[in-house]
Amino acid sequence: MTELLYQTDSYLKEFTAKVVGIDEEQHGVLLDQTAFYPGGGGQPNDVGVLVTPDKTYTVTKVARGNIHVIDGDVPAVGTEVRGILDWERRYKLMRTHTAMHILCGVVWRDYSASVTGGNMEPLQGRMDFEFERMQKELVSEIEAKINAEVAAERDLRVKILPREAAFQIPDLIRTKINLLPEGIPEVRTVEIIGLDLQADGGTHVANTREVGKLRISDYKSKGGINKRIYLEIE
Ligand SMILES: [Zn+2]
Repeated sequence: MTELLYQTDSYLKEFTAKVVGIDEEQHGVLLDQTAFYPGGGGQPNDVGVLVTPDKTYTVTKVARGNIHVIDGDVPAVGTEVRGILDWERRYKLMRTHTAMHILCGVVWRDYSASVTGGNMEPLQGRMDFEFERMQKELVSEIEAKINAEVAAERDLRVKILPREAAFQIPDLIRTKINLLPEGIPEVRTVEIIGLDLQADGGTHVANTREVGKLRISDYKSKGGINKRIYLEIE
């Protein structure tokens, strides 16, 4: 089991760890702890390096199972490494991921439309909603509302709750918490205080002011009541 340091500290850029396993097939290593996000919930995985006194190993990807995929030779089991994230990329993803929560929270609060999925790259994302009323005229209105939430400087709060406690929270039930795999004893929640609450394993900024200026770059009808909204950070 790898201890997932990013779950309690999204701002951790470097960490020390020990190689505890090698995955020949994926050409990577398992660490006892990591700050590298493995990808999931629409947020891409981190990249970076693992450093020893005599070598730097490039982490090109983190595969499911927390395998840090290495370009070239892999360090041996027992090796102590210093992990260093590509922080510029990760921080952009934290801002983008938080922007998606702002959009999701505003669209639910003001239009009662629920989110069905999303995906992001650094500084741009898209989200799918069951949003019958979405039309061109709403684009600038929604854009103003999400920028108001950035300006409101709302704090984010992360909690790790026992599964039963999380299932009692009505806001989480609407965000399809029931899709979480059975057998997971704890649920991590991410809250933009006063706006949005999600069951979520990703990394986010600490305050909405860090997100920066937002733009709705496009939207598309995906058939029926399904609408896709495209978001960019300037
Ligand atoms: Zn999230």
